[in-house]
Amino acid sequence: MKQQSPEYLQKVKVVLVGTTHPGNIGSVARAMKTMGLTQLVLVDPQTEVDGKSFALAAGAADILNNAIIVDTLVEGVADCSLVIGASARSRTLPWPMLDPRQTGLKLMTEVANSPVAVVFGRENSGLSNDELQMCQYHVCIPANPEYSSLNLAMAVQTICYEIRMAWLSEEIIDSSEQYPTAQQMHGFYEHLEQTLYQTDFIIKAHPGQIMNKLRRLFNRARPEETELNILRGILTATQRSIVNKSNKD
Ligand code: SAH
Repeated sequence: MKQQSPEYLQKVKVVLVGTTHPGNIGSVARAMKTMGLTQLVLVDPQTEVDGKSFALAAGAADILNNAIIVDTLVEGVADCSLVIGASARSRTLPWPMLDPRQTGLKLMTEVANSPVAVVFGRENSGLSNDELQMCQYHVCIPANPEYSSLNLAMAVQTICYEIRMAWLSEEIIDSSEQYPTAQQMHGFYEHLEQTLYQTDFIIKAHPGQIMNKLRRLFNRARPEETELNILRGILTATQRSIVNKSNKD
């Protein structure tokens, strides 16, 4: 089998949000290392990385020692251009879905250009709707519909295996598109929301689902970096003309 550059596996972040069991963090480290992944990010962990974590990590203590801890998901995936959220349940607002195999292929296609991430939720409640909406795609492991929720580390193992299989695959062609990072998309959404308030398109007291629907639209369209710059320019021009007009009034 052909192998892509080992760097590619190291540019895939495994992001755990709000994990409560220290043992799970250790088992995740082990699952990652067996598949060649190295970058573990803990977002707002509800436990310390402790002796139990190290016991379950076995030979993957290095992954735990190098894990990065951040407060928010936005920080955890800031430099990533592709973020995929793992969820056992379908949510109210339908979102583009991938299966684990497609997830591996998609991540390996885009990783040549910038870091990418897979995000996993809390043991008891998964990922919140806001967190899921920060992801371009959702991945569901098609488990037994009557009992579909895997242990966190088992879910990580399944996805990391598919990432490795994609990495070993001959089918991968590096993508040439330069997509914005999650941080740039976050900045764009804030700018868009601010402008929609200023134009009274969204009323602050009743924002409704507009921003969620717009996030879904732009996720689907996946603007490239240069296209996002044009959109930011339009927003800036709109804001400028509102200020000029109100100065004249
Ligand atoms: N009780 C939670 C599930 C938590 S399992 C819920 O109902 O959402 C912890 C995490 O493992 C989930 O947030 C998800 O990221 C991952 N996971 C578990 N089973 C999965 C599945 N079948 N498909 C995709 N991800 C899964």
